Amino acid sequence: MVEDTWYLRLVKSIILILVVGCLLFWFLPLHINYYYEGNRIFCIHDGLKSWSRANIEFKRTFDKKDADVLIDHIPQSQCDSITEVAEHNSGKIHINADYQTTDKQLTGVIAHEFGHYLGLHHNHDNSVMNVDIPYGILPTDLDIARVRVEVLKLKLDRL
Ligand SMILES: [Zn+2]
Repeated sequence: MVEDTWYLRLVKSIILILVVGCLLFWFLPLHINYYYEGNRIFCIHDGLKSWSRANIEFKRTFDKKDADVLIDHIPQSQCDSITEVAEHNSGKIHINADYQTTDKQLTGVIAHEFGHYLGLHHNHDNSVMNVDIPYGILPTDLDIARVRVEVLKLKLDRL
């Protein structure tokens, strides 16, 4: 049997620290701060929270400087669509203020736009990113599986 020398104990300690660090990194949630000062906060909250199963925690901030995602309402004249529009992947989600949506529709749109923030593109699957499905669908198991790697990348970017 090999005797534990000081350097062997050091190597074992380093390996243990690396393994624990990787496990913590994998299991700790991604924290997203969002800023929103409109009057449909419940839709915004529900749309974002629909991604919680992907190990993401959301917190509303009242300081734009602390926000990962800025959500606001803008006039239709500044939108390139009659529906809500986001600057994809930028952390800015603009809602067309002149387009009427039900609460369920707006919740689905926010879920969709946050999918873009996470790096997802449009598709034709059973997905919140499917552009053929009318507003209102929330992230499916397929979406949650697809963003696992994207969530890890966002966590790595913050190291
Ligand atoms: Zn889209």
